[in-house]
This record gives sequence, C-alpha cells and structure tokens, in this order.
Amino acid sequence: MGSIETTAGPVDAGALGRTLCHEHLLTSSESIRAQYPHLYDTEREFEKAVEQVRAAMAHGVGTIVDPACMDLARDARLAMRVAEATGCRIVMATGIYGQHYTFIPQHFQTRDEDYLADAFVHDIEVGIQGTAVKAAFLKTAADEPGITPDIEKVHRAAARASLRTGRPIMAHSRPASRTGTEQVRIFLEEGVAPEKIMIAHTGDTDDLDHIEELLALGVYIGMDRYGTAIFLPDETRNAVVAELCARGHAGRMVLSQDACATIDWFPDELRAQLAPKWNFTLIFEEILPQLRELGVSDADIDTMLDVVPAAWLAG
Ligand SMILES: [Zn+2]
Repeated sequence: MGSIETTAGPVDAGALGRTLCHEHLLTSSESIRAQYPHLYDTEREFEKAVEQVRAAMAHGVGTIVDPACMDLARDARLAMRVAEATGCRIVMATGIYGQHYTFIPQHFQTRDEDYLADAFVHDIEVGIQGTAVKAAFLKTAADEPGITPDIEKVHRAAARASLRTGRPIMAHSRPASRTGTEQVRIFLEEGVAPEKIMIAHTGDTDDLDHIEELLALGVYIGMDRYGTAIFLPDETRNAVVAELCARGHAGRMVLSQDACATIDWFPDELRAQLAPKWNFTLIFEEILPQLRELGVSDADIDTMLDVVPAAWLAG
C-alpha cells in the first residue's frame, strides 16, 4: 500500500489503524463565520472536537477521515491543532460541497472544470489554506436537486484532479433519488477507476437493488450516517449492513457516523432533539454489538473499520 497524507504529514497506509472514514471536526456556514464571527466561539469548537476525537480514540480509533471541504468551513489549522492535542491522525480533503447542493460561487461558475481542478490539485500538491497540510482525497456532493450544471462541473473537476494526482474521491450522495449512479457515471466517463470512488451515505437506504447496482460498478460505499434517524433508523441500517456482509460485501463498505463535533446548521437544542445519539462513538457503544447479534463476524467488522478505509485512500 502507498502512503496517505495526514495533517502531520504522510504515513504508510498500513499504519492508519482503526479508522472512522466520515466524521467532521466542524461543520459551519462559511460566509456567516467570515462576516459575523461574534456568533462563534472558536475555542469551544476546538474543545468539542478534541472531546469527540479523544472519545473515539478510547475505542481504539487511530485515524479520523474528515471530508470537510469548501462550503463546510474546512479548517486545516483547526485539524492540525486537534491532531496535535490528541495524537489522532486526521485526514483531510479538497473539493466543493455546493451551496444547497445546487450552486457554486460566481468565481468558479464563470470558469471551467480545469480551473477548478487546478485549485483542487493545489491543495493536494502544495497544501490547504497556506499550511503544509495536503489533501488526501477529493470531495463532491449531490443531493435532492440532482446533478445541476454546477454540481456536474464540480464532479468533472474532481475527477480530473484525481486523474492528475492519483487521489481517490468521496461523493456525498442521496440514495433516495439514486444520485450515486449518476455521480459514478460522470467519474467513469472522465476516466476515474471505480476503486478510487466512495459513494458516501449509501447506508441511508434499504433499497438493496440500488446498493447492488453501485457495488456492481466496482465502487466503495459508505454506511456512514449511524445516529441520523431523520434519514434512516439505525435498526434498518444494521439490517442492510448485515445482509450485505452475508452477501460477501464487507470488503466494499466503511462504517461511520458523519457526526459533527460542532455544526451550526441548527441550534444545539434542535440537534439534540433530532439526533440525540449522533456522535463519534455511537458505533462502538451500540452498533457493533447489534451487528454481531445479527451475525456480522468480527473479521467483517475489522475489514470495514481497519482495512477498507486504507485501501480506498491508498487507491
Ligand atoms: Zn459528511
């Protein structure tokens, strides 16, 4: 296996250890943070990130992959600080989430895919936000609005940056409208190999036909939103994961929570109401014992948490 970029520099892919493949140190509204900073307590955000990372480490986690990118308030300096404070390896991305999964700002709207790809390649080869932290992978997103022209541009740009650098891609998807199929089609059209692609949030559905359709394309899938019953209850997520393991697909899945140590999209009280168990440790505290009861083997659990993240990141 090759080496993987972390906030502390490259490490051997075989040394990542137990890995949460999709968690967020911080998810925040970039324009509001920049213009109304008094609304934010950045020290408290740092402390909450450290608390969550330490809690995960207590369950043996050695690496956290944070797919923050543009529009989610990605912050390389915060990630470096958290990594230094905790000793956890943190893996960062480059890419664009899209505003309301629909638009990108005018600066990128009026320029072509290759201009976007250049920006992504800068983060991979030079560093993120003026730091030496290099992006280990690319991030894109499609959701309810589908593949709008701007969203297609981001996917094509990410694909081209992947081809130029060899870095893999993680794509936020919405299985309820099967966006993953379209996203993979664009990546493959651009020439990206399927094993470089991870379709995040595939675990938001119990539509096994759709999941099998994605797996048949050769991509990895993220069963990565445990704790978000607003998309699908954990009980249903578990049944899907157990069935896919029984069908021999553990080697194509990762387990994670998409939890955010801080998220400013809604007031804290609303978050507590909507997703009370949504944190970096739910998998270890509740989900793994439930999966074992459903017949998922320890070997399959190790594969999903220890092997697949490194295999995907190493391309
Ligand atoms: Zn996410």
